[in-house]
Amino acid sequence: MNKKFFLDLLFPRFCFGCQKEGSYLCEDCQNILGILESHQTYSGKNLKDLYWATPYQNPLMKKLIHCFKYEPFLKELSKSLSLLIINHFQLIEKQPDFSEFILIPVPLYKKRLKWRGFNQAEEIGKEVSEFLKIPLISNCLLKIKETPPQIELLETERKESVLGVFWVKKEEIEEEKILLIDDVFTTGATMEECARVLKKAGAKEVIGLVVARG
Ligand SMILES: [Zn+2]
Repeated sequence: MNKKFFLDLLFPRFCFGCQKEGSYLCEDCQNILGILESHQTYSGKNLKDLYWATPYQNPLMKKLIHCFKYEPFLKELSKSLSLLIINHFQLIEKQPDFSEFILIPVPLYKKRLKWRGFNQAEEIGKEVSEFLKIPLISNCLLKIKETPPQIELLETERKESVLGVFWVKKEEIEEEKILLIDDVFTTGATMEECARVLKKAGAKEVIGLVVARG
């Protein structure tokens, strides 16, 4: 008996949307989330573009993200969530060519990482890296200061709160094209700040990639 089969027997998975047994997100409920079938371009101050698979507003989406990042910290949800990104890439007409990119997850401060047990962006990144066949590099962008939970801040406060909290290992990203990955994009303050420091350290371009956009 393989390990996965054994675990499925012990801990059967139920769909977060309809409770059907088999997976955390069944195909029908995935369709309800509404994976975007076209790429909506985005242009930020430092992010050249942004790819997102689905809107964040759907209560099912919020529930999935919540159970992933907070209690019960279902790390395995990274598979269902990254599948949304992969499906989005497969649905859009003009496939982006990321073959020359490296994938970098938005980092967590060490205390947060210890509390959650994993970096949600990195977990999603692992699956996406396999799909795109590009390397995932997790140790060249670090968060060196703690920030208050972004959810409690106003947009202007968010921008200020992330200033100077990231550190880059310059030699790893110089001249690189970077796909910066995270779970959710809301105001974009965090991703824009990451992109800013990456570009300042010599990255050629930075494109964002998230499961959901608020
Ligand atoms: Zn379902």
